[in-house]
Amino acid sequence: MSAQLLDGKLISEQIITEVRAKVDARVAAGRRAPALAVVLVGDDPASAVYVRNKKTACERAGFRSLSFEYPASLTEAELLALVRKLNDDPEVDGILVQLPLPKHINADRVIETINPHKDVDGFHPYNFGRLALKMPLLRPCTPHGVMVMLEKTGVDLVGKDAVVIGASNIVGRPAALELLMARATVTVCHSKTRDLAGKVAAADIVVAGVGIPNFVKGDWIKPGAIVIDVGINRLENGKLCGDVEFEVAKQRASWITPVPGGVGPMTIALLMQNTLDANIHLYP
Ligand code: NAD
Repeated sequence: MSAQLLDGKLISEQIITEVRAKVDARVAAGRRAPALAVVLVGDDPASAVYVRNKKTACERAGFRSLSFEYPASLTEAELLALVRKLNDDPEVDGILVQLPLPKHINADRVIETINPHKDVDGFHPYNFGRLALKMPLLRPCTPHGVMVMLEKTGVDLVGKDAVVIGASNIVGRPAALELLMARATVTVCHSKTRDLAGKVAAADIVVAGVGIPNFVKGDWIKPGAIVIDVGINRLENGKLCGDVEFEVAKQRASWITPVPGGVGPMTIALLMQNTLDANIHLYP
């Protein structure tokens, strides 16, 4: 058996096209276009690429994007002052502070300072808490993207055994909350988990967000399982690869996401969706 591919590029384009249509209709009705403020501190090359992709997506979605780029020497107080200014700006709907931040800045403090209704990354404790309470508002983009992809398979998630590998605040933890909200039975694995192979082998759905290339062996996958690979790892030859041994896993899974072209583009599409939702919430 060879798995069907979940094409994140295609699905994300569909989402952005739908967002664009709603934006065009709102603008035609006399409203201003949604605006996303993107803040980049320091010169991390991967962050620079992510920020560039987000700005390009804003153009495609018909948004205004405001760019704030600072050297790594920016102080925490200066960054917090910028966030507060953006919170108070009625022309700004979404605030995205690209992570990771330089070590001298407390990222948690920055995230907590963002107005939760402009927190389009969905990382503020208010939005995270709402997700945990099954009343999500702005949902973390990557796990939300995972759920949209699972929905595209047409498979009913209720009662399915899902294994999430990784428990970070950005990927694993919110992905587990999303799957629980969809009424799957969720096992969250992390660096201290015992018998990971055995847990994966029993799973109908595997979501991997570890950050180690080819960490999840293809022959662990239960025949017919759905495999969502969130990992984005750069190999020495410059190529990108996921956390799952794709070629082997593909022979066993029913559905699988490629890397690149899987969850990555979905994250950006859901960011656009969140920015439109924030705009509509602030200015119904
Ligand atoms: P992280 O380092 O914060 O978290 C990694 C998690 O993996 C931790 O919970 C850790 O306990 C777990 N882990 C580490 N070693 C393990 C092991 N041996 N067995 C089981 N679990 C183990 O990383 P992150 O920010 O969550 O990112 C994970 C991956 O997802 C990275 O490759 C990152 O690039 C990628 N990512 C992709 C997107 C996207 O848009 N597709 C978004 C965010 C992150």
